[in-house]
Amino acid sequence: MAEYSLLSLLKNAWSGNRDWKPAWRKPDPKPEYDVIIVGGGGHGLATAFYLAKEHGITNVAVLEKGWLGSGNIGRNTTIVRSNYLLPESIRFYDFSVKLWENLSHELNYNVMFSQRGILNLAHSPAQADDYIRRGNAMRHGGGDGVWLTPAEIAKKVPGVDLSQNARFPVVGGLLQPRAGTARHDAVAWGFARGADRRGVDIIENCEVTGFLRDGDNVTGVKTSRGEIRAKKVAVAVAGSTGRVMRLAGIDRLPIESHVLQAFVTESLKPFVDTVVTFGGGHLYMSQSDKGSLVFGGDLDGYNSYAQRGNLPVVEEVMSEMVAMFPSLARVRLLRSWGGVMDMSMDGTPIITTGPLPGMYLNTGWCYGGFKATPASGWLFAWTIAKNTPHEINAPFTLDRFHRGAIIDEKGQGATPKLH
Ligand SMILES: Cc1cc2nc3c(=O)[nH]c(=O)nc-3n(C[C@H](O)[C@H](O)[C@H](O)COP(=O)(O)OP(=O)(O)OC[C@H]3O[C@@H](n4cnc5c(N)ncnc54)[C@H](O)[C@@H]3O)c2cc1C
Repeated sequence: MAEYSLLSLLKNAWSGNRDWKPAWRKPDPKPEYDVIIVGGGGHGLATAFYLAKEHGITNVAVLEKGWLGSGNIGRNTTIVRSNYLLPESIRFYDFSVKLWENLSHELNYNVMFSQRGILNLAHSPAQADDYIRRGNAMRHGGGDGVWLTPAEIAKKVPGVDLSQNARFPVVGGLLQPRAGTARHDAVAWGFARGADRRGVDIIENCEVTGFLRDGDNVTGVKTSRGEIRAKKVAVAVAGSTGRVMRLAGIDRLPIESHVLQAFVTESLKPFVDTVVTFGGGHLYMSQSDKGSLVFGGDLDGYNSYAQRGNLPVVEEVMSEMVAMFPSLARVRLLRSWGGVMDMSMDGTPIITTGPLPGMYLNTGWCYGGFKATPASGWLFAWTIAKNTPHEINAPFTLDRFHRGAIIDEKGQGATPKLH
């Protein structure tokens, strides 16, 4: 497949854009692969890409029950950050930000990674202490955290209500300058194209309906397009993890499925050039290149596989938005949608060998799996290729729940709604 470049852009412009080739093939499934990846979201596609690129394993199929981008990879609010407290999280998410910084070049595909920063507003002295502690941990871990005063916030984000009469007065904010946003569906398409170019078969409209077993060993999958055998089967189906793993006889995992909603307004002139979060509740917002405000809040708060949201959370998110930016009260909301989240019990992902021989599992991404996409794919590929986790994801294996070695970033315990 041809490289994308200025030259190819000009050549195709002159020929009326008739000669662009599809970015990935539409192959029929082969009877057998070295590796099958179940789930063609960001994580499955990134895993296939890095299996081929880093480990030379190209006899790989990604099986997607719908179309690429139909899951959470195409439903999220596109925030990329690594502003964490615990060393395991900082190491993992910083690794991801580093991969993001070179991703468009690595994929030869513009994922529109924009390092516009993220600002967490603090609304009480106790919350400020908490954020400053997190900023210090980030700096100790080699990352970037900067404390801003209200006067500095006023310059950076005009429109934030900084008055002392505000319902939740702002006392300062933690800025991570290297954080930002990326174009979510371009990430799926870029990884798909990169994997396809290296020989990976991406098979859409192919639902996994069961697993082939030889005793305990997983030896392949049953699909809506027939049985396919594989030496290794990797599952990366995000919010569908419970349902898919049940097909393999695993009916207890430390995750719950919850709905999370996202919202988009009409386009406005550019007025906020960073991601802003509201600490008086749970709200995160950025302005897209088209001018729309893209934002989200908390989980809907009950278990569901429905990809649509509920009114009480819409009302909660809108009231938080207006508390943070009173001048937006009359802006019209254009669209909202939901996605199904795989919430782990400690708020930290699972990238692991097992739980059955021949099987590998990637899940538990909670609100934050988009930013993790490159690192998750890189480390899951390593784990599959070498049959053992890399030192960065060694703390993220499934057995941490048996060992009591949970990574409880928010100190909230086994309460998905609070992570
Ligand atoms: C509203 C919302 C906002 C979010 N905002 C952010 C954010 O700002 N920043 C951030 O970092 N994260 C965010 N996230 C989280 C992030 O989107 C997810 O954690 C991440 O995308 C999950 O990984 P994935 O891309 O592989 O998932 P998905 O794209 O969901 O991929 C899983 C795929 O598996 C497929 N599948 C399921 N069952 C089967 C089967 N039986 N056979 C074959 N295929 C199957 C699905 O069709 C799906 O395409 C948000 C999520 C939502 C819903």
